[in-house]
Amino acid sequence: MRAPATWLLALLTSTALAAPAAGPAAPPSSQDAPGLPPIDAGTALLVVSPHPDDETLCCAGAIQRVLHAGGRVSIVWLTSGDAARIDLVLMGRSLFPSSAVAHELGVRRMAEARLAATRLGVSPAGQLFLGYPDGGLLELPGGHRASPYVSHSTGASAVPYDAALYPRHPYTGESLERDFLHVLERVQPNLILAPTPLDAHPDHRAAGLLVQSLGTRLAAVAAVRYWIVHGGEGWPTPRDLLPGVPLTPAPLARSLAPAPFALEPAEEDGKLFALRAYESQLQVMAPFLLAFVRSNELYALRAH
Ligand SMILES: [Zn+2]
Repeated sequence: MRAPATWLLALLTSTALAAPAAGPAAPPSSQDAPGLPPIDAGTALLVVSPHPDDETLCCAGAIQRVLHAGGRVSIVWLTSGDAARIDLVLMGRSLFPSSAVAHELGVRRMAEARLAATRLGVSPAGQLFLGYPDGGLLELPGGHRASPYVSHSTGASAVPYDAALYPRHPYTGESLERDFLHVLERVQPNLILAPTPLDAHPDHRAAGLLVQSLGTRLAAVAAVRYWIVHGGEGWPTPRDLLPGVPLTPAPLARSLAPAPFALEPAEEDGKLFALRAYESQLQVMAPFLLAFVRSNELYALRAH
């Protein structure tokens, strides 16, 4: 195995003349689903999740498949979901919930994420929280590249969670990029699943742009596939728990021609079991969340 510093150096210095995000060189076998490159014991998967729950919605099937094959899985949550409006109102019993309530929500959602990831089989070492501002990610690379952004919900201008990977790192674009690179260095993934910048949610767009900013340099060391959660026009349609029914491409991501990754019934069951960990989210938008438990997941080669 390459030393982490060497891996990072390869990422940062690569001129990426390699094929665009084509994945491992091994030829696909009949048992490999077409939505992802071949998965085996050498697969090191990193799921880039803007909020707690996205990793399960997008990728619970792929996560289970990699672990079942003997590979490694890590999840990095960029925010802790501490600005979810309805949750804050319910928890704070007020239309104007305090920053303390927002912090409490972030802690609760991180605990839910840990439970969901554990249910999928991801080890604690693979559960990585960065704690950047929910609802503020897209502000960081622009106006707050060097000057800290202040969270509208927690009032924090730096990572406020002791359980995060880098507590008290400032809410700046530079800091987010640096922390994300450190995660890559730590995980050394050869497969990355990230949100497409076409997603309707600004945090998801920011997460996709963050991955995309590493562009072809990243593609030289890892296969990258993109997914969508906020896909527009009532998607997923219908919004209901329909295991065994395929997920259709989202209107906002149709141009990406995402390929299906078929789930086994047991993987669908595992996805639902993991999703049940998100009690705070299920109480406010269960039909939307449950609609992702389908017979396939969709992954695209292109970001947009
Ligand atoms: Zn999200």
